[in-house]
Order: sequence, then structure tokens, then C-alpha cells
Amino acid sequence: MDAYRILILTGPSGAGKSTLVRHLMAHFEDLYFSISTTTRPPRAGEVSGKHYHFVNQETFLEGIARQEFLEWARVHDHYYGTSLVPVQEALKADRLVLFDIDVQGHKSVKQIYPKATSIFITTKNARVLQERLEQRATDSQEVIAQRLANAYAELQAVDQFDYVLINDDLAQAQEGILWVAKTLSYKQQMFPKERLCMAWGKGFKF
Ligand code: ADP
Ligand code: 5GP
Repeated sequence: MDAYRILILTGPSGAGKSTLVRHLMAHFEDLYFSISTTTRPPRAGEVSGKHYHFVNQETFLEGIARQEFLEWARVHDHYYGTSLVPVQEALKADRLVLFDIDVQGHKSVKQIYPKATSIFITTKNARVLQERLEQRATDSQEVIAQRLANAYAELQAVDQFDYVLINDDLAQAQEGILWVAKTLSYKQQMFPKERLCMAWGKGFKF
């Protein structure tokens, strides 16, 4: 069966993806968040194995050679990649698989899993994104300028996504993302026809 319990979150750095991931994780028991591997240095408070697997470039390139990644990309001058095996295991265990990846990763995952659902998450404008990145205080002014330019470039891919979420009022955005995630439980594939018909018609002769 084609994997369909996949939710891809993409959008500019600082748009609020991690904040919304935390909200989803608090509301779904059977959710698996794909922890990416990156060569980017950890930010204050980031923990290896929880937010990312932080590795050096040599280790990352070895991972590519060993075909350990479902997809990988260079974003803002660093490597980022999704580990293949944990995703396959989570899908096999019928867990909802959540990705926080960039537009390149989104394209790759959609090619591999065409039934995946994707949400483009953004702020309402560049000014708000700049303010959030400044408030987060994890990046230099130079890095923030680069992230803003990248954000505009990423926005050009918005029409490749199933949903768009403008993360302005946080409570509303949290509600919106929960709605979308919940719809995946109502996908037709959740109800294999034979099993459904047999259970539904038990005790009757039609
Ligand atoms: P991303 O994971 O997309 O890089 P984060 O989740 O780290 O973004 O959010 C960037 C900053 O914006 C954080 O300081 C976060 O607390 C803040 N933030 C997220 N959503 C909102 C919102 N709706 N309103 C105001 N601030 C927000
Ligand atoms: P950040 O450095 O702000 O954590 O992430 C920068 C960008 O890299 C974000 O757009 C994020 O979604 C993306 N990203 C994180 N992990 C992966 C990954 O495994 N693959 C890809 N393609 N992008 C990723």
C-alpha cells in the first residue's frame, strides 16, 4: 500500500515549524517526528538526537555514500538529510510520520511517497519573519539576511503544496495544523475495502 500517513511541513526558517511540530507531538500519540541529520552547528538549547543529529561534513558524506538518507539537500550552506530506516519503520508501524524539511526535500519525498500531504508554513510577510528571527536570537544579522532571501526563493514553490498555513496568530495556526493532521485519519486508505465490508455486513446476507 502506498504510504499516505505522512505530513510534510516546509517553510522559511523562523516561520514557526518547530513550534507547530511541538504542538502536534503533544496531541498525537502515534506520531513519529523524523529527526534530520545536519552539518549545521547546534543552536543554544538544541540537543543532538532530539532536534537534529548534529554531525560533521565527513560523517554526512559517508551517510550519503552508504545511502542512509531518504533525501538530503544543501540548505543555507549546510547539509540536511532525512534518515531512511526510521521512516520506513514508522510507516510500517502505522505511525503518522512528520517531516520538517525544505522545498527540495518536499519535492523528493513527494516523488517517493506521492500520497504524502504537505503544508507550506509562512509568516504573513518578510518583516514579521525578520522580527521572529531577531527575537529568536540564534542567528547573526548576516545569517538572518541570508535566511530572508532564501525565504523569498522558497515562497516561489508554494503552488507545489497541498495546504498553506500563515502562522500569524499562534493559537489559530495550532488549530489549523491539528485539523490537517486529523484529516489523515479519515483517508479512504485507513479503511481497506474488504475488511470494512466484512465487518459492516457481519450477520447479514445481502
Ligand atoms: P522554524 O522551526 O520554522 O525555524 P520556530 O518554531 O523556531 O521556527 O519559530 C521561530 C520563532 O518564532 C520562535 O522564537 C518562536 O517562538 C516564534 N513564533 C512561532 N510562531 C509564532 C507566532 N505565531 N507568533 C509569534 N511568534 C511565533
Ligand atoms: P534550520 O537550520 O532553521 O533548523 O533549518 C533550515 C532548513 O532546513 C529548514 O527549511 C528546514 O525545514 C530544512 N531541513 C531540516 N531538515 C531537513 C532535511 O532532513 N532535509 C531537507 N531537505 N531539509 C531539511
